[in-house]
Amino acid sequence: MCAISGAWTLIRKPKIVVGDPVDEEFFRLMEGKAEVIRAYDVSDDEFASLLKDADIVVVRSRRRITRALIDCARCLKVVARAGVGLDNVDVDYARSKGIIVVPVAEASIEAVAELTIGFMIALSRKIPMLSSKMRDGLWCKDKGLGFELKDKTLGIIGLGRIGSRVAELAKAFGMRILAYDPYVDRDTASKMDVEFVDELSDLLKVSDYVSIHAPLTEETYHMIGEYELKLMKPTAFLINTARGSIIDERALAKALKEGWIAGAALDVFENEPLENSDLAKLDNVILTPHIGGSTVEAQKSIARILAEKILSYIESSTMGEADKPIVKHSCFNSSNA
Ligand code: NAD
Repeated sequence: MCAISGAWTLIRKPKIVVGDPVDEEFFRLMEGKAEVIRAYDVSDDEFASLLKDADIVVVRSRRRITRALIDCARCLKVVARAGVGLDNVDVDYARSKGIIVVPVAEASIEAVAELTIGFMIALSRKIPMLSSKMRDGLWCKDKGLGFELKDKTLGIIGLGRIGSRVAELAKAFGMRILAYDPYVDRDTASKMDVEFVDELSDLLKVSDYVSIHAPLTEETYHMIGEYELKLMKPTAFLINTARGSIIDERALAKALKEGWIAGAALDVFENEPLENSDLAKLDNVILTPHIGGSTVEAQKSIARILAEKILSYIESSTMGEADKPIVKHSCFNSSNA
């Protein structure tokens, strides 16, 4: 049973439940410091049951930390998100319960930015389509006329960590960069040689590539729908490595079928894993299974930063006695330690 006493109590090692796959480096760094449970393949009910006496939960983007889960995780003190984007965590509710929400935002910038550039080249040179034809024994050189990135316009929606890095990389290809981001500090951003637009429509109308790097919020949900897709050039490509629900997928499938835009590359989807989608039937779309942050380097870096943040939390709670969890709201008495 889990009684929140509000007292500082020394009882046992903290229990950490890891709900989504995290690099082994994390487990190595936590050895001896906490009881760490891998809960990758358990059902939602089993996961909820494991959380009942957990102090810390680690998730990536798959597991959802909902209000209901928080209510049953009565000992929870930290929700650690191994990556960026907190749309799978009920952050407000967690915070209202005194639970700290810790994202690891900095580790996957390079991985996502490079994937974005890869998508731009793959779309422009029709790499997936031509490769698939080759596997079918077809030599479609006549269908292989593509485009160069040089002198094209890239429209970036959301000029934060990843958007800014994409801008830097795209500059090296000789691209012109437009950005739409109502919240970015213009002074900092002006040093980046990026042209800002005040209206999203101004970016959509002129960009050859539109790449989304904003968070999923009420404001960005279905930010790209029929109306916006119709504003884009018929030769333009749309790239989404941010969050699936920023695009209305039905409208996008229609746009791709009817040629309102030339193509799209998507790493993220409204429902993941993607199943029975019209998008999968189209030739002019590249689909990847949410691999933006999935590089060896990013995963190791996430694991290291995650372990550092969690250890620092444990150590500050225990005042240096890492093997004795002194937790502000201790949930255990010695009978269930
Ligand atoms: P960030 O917080 O550094 O940047 C987001 C930017 O979006 C900010 O500058 C913010 O001002 C801007 N923004 C907010 N609302 C906006 C709006 N309505 N219109 C335009 N811009 C708006 O975030 P980041 O670390 O650069 O991550 C960007 C996105 O990439 C997030 O959605 C994140 O979830 C996603 N992501 C995906 C993967 C993946 O595996 N595909 C990995 C990491 C991050």
